[in-house]
Amino acid sequence: MINMFDLHADLALAIQGHQNEYDGAVLRNHWLPIWQKGGIGWTAAASYFGGEEDWETMKDTILLVKNDIKESGLKQILTPADLDENDPCTTVVMTIEGMCGIKKDPEDSVQWMYDQGNRIGSLCWNDENALATGNDGDPARGLTDMGRAVIRKMNQLHMIVDVSHANEKTFWDILDMSELPIIASHSNCKRKCFVTRNLTDQQMLAMAEKGGLIGMNSCEDFISEDPDLQDADHLAEHVLYMADLVGLEHIACGFDFGGYYYEEDTGKDLFGPWQAQNFIDALMRAGLSEKDIRAIAYGNAMDFLRKHL
Ligand SMILES: [Zn+2]
Repeated sequence: MINMFDLHADLALAIQGHQNEYDGAVLRNHWLPIWQKGGIGWTAAASYFGGEEDWETMKDTILLVKNDIKESGLKQILTPADLDENDPCTTVVMTIEGMCGIKKDPEDSVQWMYDQGNRIGSLCWNDENALATGNDGDPARGLTDMGRAVIRKMNQLHMIVDVSHANEKTFWDILDMSELPIIASHSNCKRKCFVTRNLTDQQMLAMAEKGGLIGMNSCEDFISEDPDLQDADHLAEHVLYMADLVGLEHIACGFDFGGYYYEEDTGKDLFGPWQAQNFIDALMRAGLSEKDIRAIAYGNAMDFLRKHL
């Protein structure tokens, strides 16, 4: 088994879905055995905000995640010293997906999220909010002045900026102004699957040139437009394409497993964290060396965070 670092996992939803079954510590009691089965050694713990949530709701969700990590006794990535390739005991890094609740005080809000342990964050989900414009927003609208203040503060704190879900205008606005490399935690190649959530060649090249990182997404609609080709082998094809275009060192995993909120058998081979090793097997079938597979599975994510946190 090769352990993996998953850069995007909806763990706030994964905790909320099982909150009534356990007295706190949902991550340890419910998810840890599942991670161990799939070889998830390190994972993001995302707090998701789709556009309707206010700042109080954001704070409650972030504190729920923070407290569950603590109650679960899981190790947390806060500084580069917390990254250890040799200790895949499921260590988590708190992340934010969407910051729609921030409507004033951008610097203080980012500082508060950072102080709770969040180290990666995207300004928007698909929504259009006070900071930025997501996939479903006005294509002519990008980052706002308040969004720029958020990026500056994140750069200052070394909180990593995530552009998955940003529309193209927001993507380029962020890429232009961010002083630190950015990540797209869960996005694939548009050339291989034409959906707005995937990245164009130009976007991937520009990210790579600035030292960025792209997490491969297992969501079937982002793997292929053909339902018969929405599997681990075809996600591996995105990897081969991306490696050829920008270099293998910019590729990581950001599975965005649907299995965190629908735990039924979908017949797919990469739906939940329990199936993560199917991606390793697919990379082997695609002809990648063990060294390259380890880089994609966890090494590149570790290197990136070690350099930029
Ligand atoms: Zn997402």
